[in-house]
Amino acid sequence: MTRRGGSVLGATGSVGRNALDVIGRFPRRFRVTALCAGTNARALVALARIHRPEMVCLWEGDAASIRRELPRGTRVVLGEQGMTEAACAKNADIVLAAASGISSLRPVIAAAEAGKRIALANKELLVMAGKFLTAAARRGGAEILPVDSEHSAVFQVIGRNRREDILRVILTASGGPFRCRSLEEMRRATIPEALGHPVWRMGAKISVDSATLMNKGLEVIEATWLFGLPPARIDVLIHPQSVIHSMVEFRDGSVLAQMGIPDMRIPIAYALSYPERLPMELPRLRPHRMEGWGFETPDRKRFPALSLAYGAAETGGTAPAVLNGANEEAVRAFLSHRIGFTDIVRVVDRVLSGWKGSFAARTLKDVLEADTFSRRAARDRISRSRRPTTT
Ligand code: MG
Repeated sequence: MTRRGGSVLGATGSVGRNALDVIGRFPRRFRVTALCAGTNARALVALARIHRPEMVCLWEGDAASIRRELPRGTRVVLGEQGMTEAACAKNADIVLAAASGISSLRPVIAAAEAGKRIALANKELLVMAGKFLTAAARRGGAEILPVDSEHSAVFQVIGRNRREDILRVILTASGGPFRCRSLEEMRRATIPEALGHPVWRMGAKISVDSATLMNKGLEVIEATWLFGLPPARIDVLIHPQSVIHSMVEFRDGSVLAQMGIPDMRIPIAYALSYPERLPMELPRLRPHRMEGWGFETPDRKRFPALSLAYGAAETGGTAPAVLNGANEEAVRAFLSHRIGFTDIVRVVDRVLSGWKGSFAARTLKDVLEADTFSRRAARDRISRSRRPTTT
């Protein structure tokens, strides 16, 4: 068995730590080539002491402060250039893209061009720059394997089936903490309520996105790129038990689903070891103990984020980048008590509908500019609408 090297971008986040848990379980199969973190130098050093990578990358911070504490011989690299080195390192066969936001966009595109396997957890990269990332993967002969649990499910279900036999993809959603709340209750929702995801333990940003269903909207856009399908052939279905991670309907009437306990280590392990499956020692799914599975159509009135995301997907070009940038700013404002919960999607809506520029995305620069402008527009709206959110 050849030991495969992996660079982990976003090593100190929730997906990064789960990935290192998987890698640590199979030391004869994987080794860590590089670990990259945003600003959390202390956590990065702690992980480097356990996993002994060749290099560590810090997005922001100074190398001198951590060098002394790292195992001898560990290289320290910084910023976008450093992350690109880490992603393209000779000994890295797999790049786990799990950094938050879009900082890793250019490094991951470079890794795809270099033919690395991209285990993609960071859906923003495909949402914003799907055209450019998939083109880079084609040029470099790289595979992009989904880590997002729904897309991993779809990928597993498609298997050797032919693309032209797929009628539609059905992404399941837990419905989040506000599935049964009224619009009025959602208007008054607090931060802890929005963070209280019923099934998955995740970072704050994605937990809020799951509460607005923007996360599912972003996943629809992600799926268009991963599976080469138009948005009209991707459906969203609420399934509160989150046992079925997604389904695919084929033209003969068969619907195939993938099930499992909600544990990110399962899709992560699959993306790392595909086409093999690793013997994961985790609690097993016990179908005989499960009862009352439910499915509901999402309520687009209470969850307008879904319609916005479908609209952006249909428009294409830079529209998904505008949606994503405005959403990130609005979620940040909500998490710092500057706007209310239902204002998040309202801000995104206003930024999209008030967009003066073109949505054409000829180059990566167009996408990055759209991101910058949409964030600025969102911040303007937020500061103008600043008011006590309960009145
Ligand atoms: Mg997901």
